[in-house]
Amino acid sequence: MGSLDDRVALVTGASRGIGLAIAVELARAGAKVALNHHPNTDPSEVDAAADAVASAGGVYLHVYADVSDREQVQAMVDRIVAEWGRIDILVNNAGIVRDRTLRKMTPEEWQEVINVDLGSVYNCTSAVVPLMSDQEYGRIVSISSVVAQTGNFGQTNYAAAKAGILGFTKAAALELARYNVTVNAICPGFVETGMLATVPEANRERIRLRIPLGRFAKPEEIARAVLFLVSDADYVTGQQLNVNGGLYM
Ligand code: NAP
Repeated sequence: MGSLDDRVALVTGASRGIGLAIAVELARAGAKVALNHHPNTDPSEVDAAADAVASAGGVYLHVYADVSDREQVQAMVDRIVAEWGRIDILVNNAGIVRDRTLRKMTPEEWQEVINVDLGSVYNCTSAVVPLMSDQEYGRIVSISSVVAQTGNFGQTNYAAAKAGILGFTKAAALELARYNVTVNAICPGFVETGMLATVPEANRERIRLRIPLGRFAKPEEIARAVLFLVSDADYVTGQQLNVNGGLYM
């Protein structure tokens, strides 16, 4: 028996990186996991994600939606409910970067990051709120970033979106507590994924030297923090959990 037996989870951006690690961790704990992918996600990544979840003994469903699009998100939620009848856990993980200094950043680069990284949190959370309120149970976790707390050169768009998640989390936690729905955020430090690989090697090394634990996080280390918040933290809501190797204290 896992701690999440009979629970239904939705993980956004589950095709790789942190999202896939979270999906595997929740599946291993017994949850049925809806794996959200962008409609344009490489099918080979989708297949590999399915294999990883299946290897963990998981039951999964592929659900496609650009999470920055409210209508696609509602259709995705409806599909999960049609299949499994409920959604107990939402992990808002999907995110992008479009790094550029403020002098050079285009309005499109600003808006795209706000829409995907913050707009998706509103779209997905508001779509599951009626379900979770009615069933008087829900666990919502959004993946923010240490950059929300420290800022980062070339990331005004990303830092603003990730800091927005923290305010959203507290306000939603206040509204939803009466329905036994908890809302929390995780602020990872720098994690070994495709997103970090976009940072030039020299910059990566400079960042690594600033991390007290002396290394980047593994995606599984973020996934275990998510598992804690959704399975063993019934009295924790409105919080941000820092998983950053000591980079920000
Ligand atoms: P990643 O390897 O780039 O994976 C991002 C995932 O999100 C991919 O599956 C991607 O799918 C999906 N995605 C992007 N836009 C989407 C959209 N509009 N609709 C649906 N899916 C979408 O990134 P990661 O490092 O695992 O990051 C996961 C989360 O952790 C992000 O929110 C990121 O900001 C946050 N984070 C990462 C780090 C880090 O150092 N890696 C640190 C702190 C926080 P496609 O690319 O196929 O569209």
